[in-house]
Amino acid sequence: MKSKQDIIQKIEQILPQTQCCRCGFADCAAYAKAVVYRTAHAHLCSVGGDETAQKIAEIAGVSLYQKVANEPKFVVQIDENRCIGCTKCLVACPVNAVSGAAKLMHTVIADECTGCGLCLPVCPTDCMQTIEVQDNFLPRNTFLSSNKNPQQAASEHARLRYQQQQTFRQPETVEYTQKTLNINQLLNKAQQKTASQKRISVKSDELAQQELQQQKQRSYQRNLRRKKQYGLDDEQ
Ligand code: SF4
Ligand code: SF4
Ligand code: SF4
Repeated sequence: MKSKQDIIQKIEQILPQTQCCRCGFADCAAYAKAVVYRTAHAHLCSVGGDETAQKIAEIAGVSLYQKVANEPKFVVQIDENRCIGCTKCLVACPVNAVSGAAKLMHTVIADECTGCGLCLPVCPTDCMQTIEVQDNFLPRNTFLSSNKNPQQAASEHARLRYQQQQTFRQPETVEYTQKTLNINQLLNKAQQKTASQKRISVKSDELAQQELQQQKQRSYQRNLRRKKQYGLDDEQ
């Protein structure tokens, strides 16, 4: 007979590991444990959708009371011209998918983003937007996992990024996060924000092209500003 710990681990393997808290728990591990200890229903992970809910119910040996609607997948992009480098999104990201430093422009590493949406409500300049993607699983990077199943590899990669983030976070950052980010408030805001955002819908292979175009535009605008600042004309 399998131990509770084995069952929790099996459920963890099939959860998306975005750590988005939409199930009402602090992370995917907490939700898996709650299902096994019968303090949560099997249909609460909306990110995993109906297929995941059915598998959870089967592994935990419980009934599934509700069908789960499948959610579209998205990643987040930062409008770098409007970013003020406040680091709030960097602190809020559970899988370390935001790169940046205080008072400097921040960027989302698209291949690490799980689309959890937790960074959206904390941005004071509202310069983050969601881009709908056609991927079946996120994140796209899976190199931390050796699992052959693409869904489980993405999920394991995200879980390991989350665990690394927890391990290497400085105690003062954790304290800052606990003081400034009330997880329930953050979750409510993230859900409202995600629902209200106008999604840009692009095919996965178009995303890189779109990013390239945006970078070109930003570079053109930066050049214009520099020329204006230093009084240069177009030939210089
Ligand atoms: S992916 Fe989000 S909703 Fe699903 S179990 Fe993990 S934290 Fe909960
Ligand atoms: S949506 Fe935001 S918080 Fe979530 S993984 Fe992507 S960058 Fe990080
Ligand atoms: S929260 Fe917004 S303004 Fe602050 S660093 Fe992130 S993207 Fe920039």
